[in-house]
Amino acid sequence: MGYSGFKIIKEGLFGQKGWKPVWRNPEPKPEYDVIIIGGGGHGLSTAYYLAKEHGITNVAVLEKGYLGGGNIGRNTTIVRANYFLPGNSEFYSHSLKLWEGMEQDLNYNTMMSQRGVLNLFHSDGQRDEFVRRGNAMINQGDDAILLSSEGVREQVPFIDFENTRFPIYGGLLHKRGGTARHDAVAWGYARGADQRGVDLIQNCEVTAIDIESGVVKGVQTSRGPIRAKKVAIVVAGRSSQVAAMAGIRLPIESHVLQAFVSEGVKPLLNNVVSFGMGHFYISQSDKGGLVFGGDLDFYASYAARGNLPMAEHVMDAAMTLMPAIGKARVLRSWGGIMDMSPDGSPIIDKTDTDGLFLNCGWCYGGFKAVPASGFAYAHLIAKKMPHKTAAKFRLDRFATGQDLLDEEGTGSQHNLH
Ligand SMILES: Cc1cc2nc3c(=O)[nH]c(=O)nc-3n(C[C@H](O)[C@H](O)[C@H](O)COP(=O)(O)OP(=O)(O)OC[C@H]3O[C@@H](n4cnc5c(N)ncnc54)[C@H](O)[C@@H]3O)c2cc1C
Repeated sequence: MGYSGFKIIKEGLFGQKGWKPVWRNPEPKPEYDVIIIGGGGHGLSTAYYLAKEHGITNVAVLEKGYLGGGNIGRNTTIVRANYFLPGNSEFYSHSLKLWEGMEQDLNYNTMMSQRGVLNLFHSDGQRDEFVRRGNAMINQGDDAILLSSEGVREQVPFIDFENTRFPIYGGLLHKRGGTARHDAVAWGYARGADQRGVDLIQNCEVTAIDIESGVVKGVQTSRGPIRAKKVAIVVAGRSSQVAAMAGIRLPIESHVLQAFVSEGVKPLLNNVVSFGMGHFYISQSDKGGLVFGGDLDFYASYAARGNLPMAEHVMDAAMTLMPAIGKARVLRSWGGIMDMSPDGSPIIDKTDTDGLFLNCGWCYGGFKAVPASGFAYAHLIAKKMPHKTAAKFRLDRFATGQDLLDEEGTGSQHNLH
């Protein structure tokens, strides 16, 4: 079914009875060319680009829950291409370009809103660092504008400019960054993949990976065995557990990340704003809710909910930057399981098992990566060669220590990334 303004008006006039399910609900076939384990954003975009870019359509996405029930439906929806290091910057630059064409490509309203991402700085040293980052972004072909304190005030008048402990010296504005509706991204890719013949199989947990003489043969699932020529793992917070089914011990730790949304308030924030002196960022949803979050809960966990100390820490930072937020009531909070890598950058690679591929390590930045990750992973699966934008996301960098992509310069401690 194609979507258009005409269709919406027609359905509005005739009782919304003509909409059809957006994807099929097929039974698993005994065998596929490619099985993708995980129906999150990355799994669904991989399936879509396998079909669209490489004509590989005998594909199943196996999801243990429902499509979009993982981190893809739990994030704070920030999209940006403001990375510094070669290896990361071309990848996220490519991703942002795919975001910009996504709604036309998928014929689906993903509510992409390029409202700008504004990172605040609070000292001369931090300004220098942001100038370097801004120059790297411009060299990559993306946009960056350095704002003075007055420039920030024009964008976001409602933050605390009088704070003597953390004065606002200025900000780095990335205008093409912004937000998108997270569920719609999953649904749009799911619909596009389904239309091209991909089987999206929900309530189907992979429990084992079948390997014979170093070659992948398929998977065991809660709905029976399924054979496959290629198997692609892309399960975010569950990466270590699923890779262990193939005897792989990953350098990934799973940590909880929480987020919060307030009741709807009048328009207050145009941009996505991040505080440079505390781990806190905020934007305002189209419904008026203030959507905000901070750091990881600092312990490894598979529980998709967080604890109160981190909630208190985030509220502290919120009140420091934006005291007005104290008047809004928190409506909801939730958590997701993050696949933290030692250098804070992802892995998109083959494994030592022939036909078995791996995509993980997205830390808390994997939403913005959804299009380019799927694009690069599909390329790797189809051609067994890395795509040029993801050429540095090799697994063996953690064994050799060479070519680590330590974007934040915090060393190899997972919970610091
Ligand atoms: C609170 C929060 C805020 C965030 N904010 C941002 C942000 O603003 N910007 C940004 O870029 N990123 C953000 N992220 C990170 C981003 O959401 C993730 O990096 C990204 O969604 C992970 O990839 P995914 O969508 O494929 O994961 P998921 O949606 O988690 O998909 C993985 C899927 O694999 C399935 N699975 C697991 N094990 C199995 C199995 N054995 N068999 C079958 N299926 C299995 C799971 O059920 C799940 O659906 C945030 C994350 C959280 C939690």
